[in-house]
Amino acid sequence: MKAVLLRFGELFLKGENRHLFEMALFNNIKKKLQGEKFKLSKTQGRLMVTEFDNVDRIVEKLTTVFGLHSLSIADELEAKEEAIYDYCKGIKLQEQTFKVDVNRGDKRFPIKSMDLASELGEIILQNNEGASVDLYNPKQKVMVDIRANGKAYIYDEIISCQGGLPLGTSGKALLLLSGGIDSPVAGYMMAKRGLKLEALHFHSYPYTSPEAKQKVVSLAEKLTYYNDEIKLHCISFTKVQEAIHKNCLPEFMITIMRRIMMRIAERICKRDGLGAIVTGESLGQVASQTMQSMTVTENVVQKTPIFRPCIGMDKEEIISIAKKIDTFETSILPYEDCCTVFLPKNPVIKPKLFQAENEEKKLDLESLIDEALASEEVMIIKSNV
Ligand code: ATP
Ligand code: MG
Repeated sequence: MKAVLLRFGELFLKGENRHLFEMALFNNIKKKLQGEKFKLSKTQGRLMVTEFDNVDRIVEKLTTVFGLHSLSIADELEAKEEAIYDYCKGIKLQEQTFKVDVNRGDKRFPIKSMDLASELGEIILQNNEGASVDLYNPKQKVMVDIRANGKAYIYDEIISCQGGLPLGTSGKALLLLSGGIDSPVAGYMMAKRGLKLEALHFHSYPYTSPEAKQKVVSLAEKLTYYNDEIKLHCISFTKVQEAIHKNCLPEFMITIMRRIMMRIAERICKRDGLGAIVTGESLGQVASQTMQSMTVTENVVQKTPIFRPCIGMDKEEIISIAKKIDTFETSILPYEDCCTVFLPKNPVIKPKLFQAENEEKKLDLESLIDEALASEEVMIIKSNV
């Protein structure tokens, strides 16, 4: 019988919370495999999937579950010497050099790991002409894992998974999701650290097209692959932008817009019990992402941390993650998001707080924010995998 063995990495570090993390991981896996035929079980701190129909689909789905470090597709046999010997007699190596690794998770098994490994090595050598053992640099490995459930698992490959922490174990946060390349990547990175995300998008309809909004829905859909379903809050930013455009100095347009976005984001966080704001900002990438700009922007956020996982990354690094998580092609579709509509030619690069505050005095901030919040539409983007 085939089994998929699952290993969890960092969870070992979590001391007393460990069982909570394990339980979250267990439930997240069950949810991810919904719709498949499978059985999920746990032995000795290792999870195992058995009784499935389609191993490729199972593996593909499992490699998107945060908290899993690696997995192996194994043959499951009785943990009896004879059964293991018989199995090894049938192994046909694909490579010339090999090594047998034995992990005796069940110490009741009568033969010590090293002894069993060399016996199995002998058997494999007898049945594979021209093969030789290389303990240090083998081209192929035969790995044998003997577990306390009375079974032995034999496999030749360890497939890397996402790592990170199980989704939801770090709490919930609000991702500011534009139509660009960076914010979906930021969302993926924070989800990987166990944050369950909701998303907030500001649109400027009718200055921006319905396609621009659809693009954001598509990006949120892509993120559900890692984040389960996503609650997407869409807010009209049109009135805010028009008011800033009409009343404030053009070079402060973006600074003020970003301060208002952050205020709205924090209101939603407080209202909906979300513990942090996540953005795709990267230091120095554009005028609004200098240290001074970020200081002036985050000054309006009172009690909510802002996570910016892309802060130290180059565009190329961000793009390579965007390609890996399949958001890149959608992000580069040409539709404009709200920030580009009223873009000034020369945005201030090093704004001062008092200057931003002076510009904002020209606005009726509270009613602009209330009106924006009143335009909120909420969509539940279901996971389509
Ligand atoms: P991105 O590629 O994520 O759009 P960017 O490099 O274009 O980022 P900005 O446009 O300055 O940078 O936006 C910085 C961050 O602010 C974005 O990563 C996103 O988190 C947030 N943001 C920008 N525009 C919007 C929007 N229309 N709705 C929601 N969040 C936004
Ligand atoms: Mg952008």
